[in-house]
Amino acid sequence: MNFSLEGKTYVVMGVANRRSIAWGIAQALHDAGARLIFTYANERFEKPVRDLAETLDRDDSLFYECDVTDDDAINTTFENIKNDVGVIHGLAHCIAFANRDELKGEFIDTSRDGFLLAHNISAFSLAAVSRAAKDVMTEGGSIVTLTYLGGERVVENYNVMGVAKASLDATMKYGANDLGKYGIRVNAISAGPIRTLSAKGVGDFNSILQEIADRAPLRKPVTQEEVGDVAYFLMSDLSRGMTGEILHVDSGYSILGR
Ligand code: NAD
Repeated sequence: MNFSLEGKTYVVMGVANRRSIAWGIAQALHDAGARLIFTYANERFEKPVRDLAETLDRDDSLFYECDVTDDDAINTTFENIKNDVGVIHGLAHCIAFANRDELKGEFIDTSRDGFLLAHNISAFSLAAVSRAAKDVMTEGGSIVTLTYLGGERVVENYNVMGVAKASLDATMKYGANDLGKYGIRVNAISAGPIRTLSAKGVGDFNSILQEIADRAPLRKPVTQEEVGDVAYFLMSDLSRGMTGEILHVDSGYSILGR
């Protein structure tokens, strides 16, 4: 079995800075020999993403702006990718957003607009980008998204993002069923809490991290690198028999009862 990703090209969506889980995934795929294509939400993120990519020891990465709330932007991005590289072998969807003021207090107070916004960016976007990516994944491949335990259980303050993650999980499974016939697998990694730009928006995030350190079987929070390595596994042929799965990379926290 060949574990190398040499000769393969992967799209990584959602690098905002060096703390992003997407960057941990990009590094793992790069270390395995892959060529990388980065997409970012808007021009504010272009320089940070290019600067990070420059630290990798290859110079054939490509960069595209792609706001996932815009269908035209998604379609244009993947048409451009098809024209520029011909075929991709996988995609890492590491994108989520909810209004900060709805990531505290009670879920029941979520506004209609806030609910729709969180679901649009954090869940529907997986369906939209998978549909567009399918046309460039002509040799089959692997799509990986990032979810969180708050979609399966109630996590204080996670609120509307938890409900959006439940929708993302179902979107991943329905997508896996649709795309399997094209040799495309779709799976999710349920990462434990990691201090990133997005995580800072969740109320009392420090206590969520502390709970992992105190109670998770491995007694420590996970790192971007640990999530990146599992993404590499999911992108590689080692996981060729898996689709529609949620893999928990969370120091074992999800197995606990109270
Ligand atoms: P991050 O802030 O580094 O990444 C989130 C990314 O989403 C950013 O790059 C941002 O630009 C992008 N994004 C937001 N709106 C967008 C839009 N309209 N179009 C395109 N991109 C958009 O934070 P992260 O924690 O690395 O988040 C990556 C994924 O991991 C998210 O789905 C998040 O929910 C998930 N996750 C995070 C944790 C954690 O504790 N950090 C745990 C489990 C799952």
